[in-house]
Amino acid sequence: MVERVLVTLDGAIRDPDAPLLYSDDIGVLRGDGIFETVLVRDGAACALELHLARLRRSAEALELAAPDLEAWRTAVQTAAKEWGAEREGLLRMVLTRGRDSEHGATGKQSAIKAGDLAGAEPATTGYVLVLPVPERVKTARTEGVSVITLSRGISIDLAQEAPWLLLGAKTLSYATNMAALRFAQRMGADDAIFTSTEHRVLEGPRSTVVIARDNQLITPPARNGVLPGTTQRVLFTEAEKAGWECKYEPLFIADLITADSVWMLSSVTLAARVNSLDGLRMSAPDNAAEIAELVHRGVTQPGNITDW
Ligand code: PLP
Repeated sequence: MVERVLVTLDGAIRDPDAPLLYSDDIGVLRGDGIFETVLVRDGAACALELHLARLRRSAEALELAAPDLEAWRTAVQTAAKEWGAEREGLLRMVLTRGRDSEHGATGKQSAIKAGDLAGAEPATTGYVLVLPVPERVKTARTEGVSVITLSRGISIDLAQEAPWLLLGAKTLSYATNMAALRFAQRMGADDAIFTSTEHRVLEGPRSTVVIARDNQLITPPARNGVLPGTTQRVLFTEAEKAGWECKYEPLFIADLITADSVWMLSSVTLAARVNSLDGLRMSAPDNAAEIAELVHRGVTQPGNITDW
């Protein structure tokens, strides 16, 4: 069984142990680029069209050249097939602004649009990498996660007022998200939920927050500065079919405490129920298994959902 699979955008399967990036890649120098994390199951990438749609939106937000979605689709499918169907895999699509040296002597990172530079457009760097799913994922799926709330120090209005903060884009700059996770772990928790300066619920460092209340599923709207989640999106479609009312509404910390259940949703872990929040035990409702099942079904059979 292969332990890692690397595919470049020309569709070539590469040696994952051979160097691939140049030292002046802007993705490395500045974290200037975007990515997607996708679950590989049964040798196929789950909810691929939604991930491609978000890759396109993120590229737009960063003023990167529009990604060649057909090339990405092929590279992802090649990588997922090469990974095989025996076990799940964690697939990353990585797209950076390319080499600093190709962006001109001024270092100007121009808005690269097709045709702008009359054929001299700097090449972006893109590749697909598949790795084993981390151990923590199994535990999170079966036992849930303990969570603490952490301030992100931003207002819910910031996404609209300061688009340069790229709040709705999945950029490579995840250092602060990873620092928040380490902080949560030092405090004895598995995960974190970011809150705004208005004490509104935002998202996890790598997941979407959804609460279940009566027959409703509620998640904070993207305009509050959260990343639109692919897993949340497929859950809402499946849940509506099953009779749930699904809403995008602002949530306060109090809404988490009084909810029937709180979920951290993400592409690879899928559904992790919050089993304790800021030290408060959150017991599982009778329908916890149903919600997890709706997510599993949604990601493996996303139908024709291609955007939010
Ligand atoms: N919010 C953030 C900040 C994330 O990093 C992720 C994970 O990728 C999500 C939400 C959930 O998105 P998805 O369900 O597409 O994995």
